[in-house]
Amino acid sequence: MNSFDIAIIGGGPAGAMAAYIAASRNMKVLIIEKEMLPRYKTCGGGLVFRGRNRLPFDISSLIQREFHELEVYFENSTHYFSTKRTEPIISMVMRDGFDALLVDQAREKGAQIMDKTQLNGLVPVENGLILQTSAGNIQCRYLIAADGALSPTAKMAGWGESRKLIPALEYEVTVGKADFERLSKKVRFDVDAVPHGYAWCFPKENHLSIGVGCLKKQKINLKALYQDYLEKLGIKEILSASAHGFQIPISPRKEGFSKGPVFLAGDAAGFADPLTAEGISNALYSGELVASAIAENFEHVQIANLAYQKKLEEKLLPELKTSAIMGWVFYTQPSLRNLLIQKYGQKGCELLTDIFMGKKPFPDKIKNRLKEIIPMLKFTG
Ligand SMILES: Cc1cc2nc3c(=O)[nH]c(=O)nc-3n(C[C@H](O)[C@H](O)[C@H](O)COP(=O)(O)OP(=O)(O)OC[C@H]3O[C@@H](n4cnc5c(N)ncnc54)[C@H](O)[C@@H]3O)c2cc1C
Repeated sequence: MNSFDIAIIGGGPAGAMAAYIAASRNMKVLIIEKEMLPRYKTCGGGLVFRGRNRLPFDISSLIQREFHELEVYFENSTHYFSTKRTEPIISMVMRDGFDALLVDQAREKGAQIMDKTQLNGLVPVENGLILQTSAGNIQCRYLIAADGALSPTAKMAGWGESRKLIPALEYEVTVGKADFERLSKKVRFDVDAVPHGYAWCFPKENHLSIGVGCLKKQKINLKALYQDYLEKLGIKEILSASAHGFQIPISPRKEGFSKGPVFLAGDAAGFADPLTAEGISNALYSGELVASAIAENFEHVQIANLAYQKKLEEKLLPELKTSAIMGWVFYTQPSLRNLLIQKYGQKGCELLTDIFMGKKPFPDKIKNRLKEIIPMLKFTG
C-alpha cells in the first residue's frame, strides 16, 4: 500500500497550497481530487490582491483581466462608491486553469496527484489513517480535508455541521459585442440587488461571470433575482449562458479545525469571508497555515493540532469574527447600515479595499466602535 506523510483531499486553492508548502518542506505529499483536472469550479473567479500576493509563484499567464478600480452600487439609493489602487484590486481567473496551475506548482515541488479519485472512507490505524479511495487503499500520517463546502471528509472524520452555508448562483454569460464592450471595462458589485446580499458582474476575457448571492439564510429565488440583475445591467443580447449554483460557508466550524491526524482548511473549515463571501484568499492562507503547522510538528500530532489552532488565532479567526459582525450590520440591519453608509460610506469602501489589498487588517474592537456611534445597539447576530 502506498504511504504518505500527508494526504490532502481536494485540489482547490486550500489543498493545492497546502501541498505546495508541505512538499517544499520535503514531506511526502499526495493530493486526491475526485474530478479530472482541470475541472470547472463554480466561482466568480475574483481573486483579490491579498490572495494573489500570497502566491509564491507567478500566475500572470492565467489572469484574464485585472481591475484597479472597484464600483459598489446600492439598490434604490443614490449611494455609489468607487475605489482605485495602483495595484490590481481584483484579478479575474477561471478556476479550472487557476486551480490546475496551483496543483502543477505543488507537483513541481514533489507532491503526487491522483485525480478522478474519490475518498470513500477513513480507518484510523496506529500512526495515522488508511484512506479508502476509489483507486484503492492509501496510508497517511496526516490528512488535510480541503474538499470544499460539502466536505465529505469532515463528515467521515466526525464533524457535525456548524458552519453557516449560504446559497450563490453564478452564470457564465456570453453577451453581444456592444454589451460586452460596455460591461467588460469595470468590475461592479450591486448591494441589495439580492435581499440581504449582493450581485456582481465580473468581466472575463471573452464573457461575463454574473452572479447573485444571499448572505442571510432564507428562502430565496436567486434565478429570478439574476434575471432582474441582467435587466439592471441593461444587457440586450445573450448569446449563451450556463448556470452553476453552489454554497459558500461563511462561518468557521464551532468544533475546531483538527481532530487527531485530520485537519480542515479552506471552505471545509468555513473560512470564506462573512462580509463578502470571498473565499479564495483564506483558502490559500489556511492551506499555508495547516501545512506549516504539520511540517513543524510532524512527530507530535497533538502539538500539530495546537500549532494549527494558534496560527489560525493569530489573524484569520479574529478577522472572520470582525467580518461576521460587519456582515450582520450590513445585511440584517438596513437602517443602521444606511446611516453608516451616509456618514462613512467612502471611508468604509476604502477600508474594505485596503483589506482586499492585504494592506490593512479588519478593524479590531468593532463592537465598541459601533456602540460609540449607536449606544443603544444590541448585537443579536
Ligand atoms: C457562486 C460562487 C461564487 C464565488 N465567487 C468567488 C470569488 O469571486 N472570489 C472568491 O475569492 N471566492 C469566491 N467564491 C468562494 C470560493 O469559490 C471558495 O471559497 C473557494 O473555492 C474555497 O477553496 P477550497 O480549496 O477550500 O475548496 P474548493 O475550491 O471547493 O476545492 C475543493 C476540491 O475538493 C474536491 N473534492 C470534494 N470532495 C472530494 C472527495 N470526496 N474526494 C476527492 N476530492 C473531493 C472538489 O472536486 C474540489 O476540487 C465563490 C463561491 C461560489 C459558490
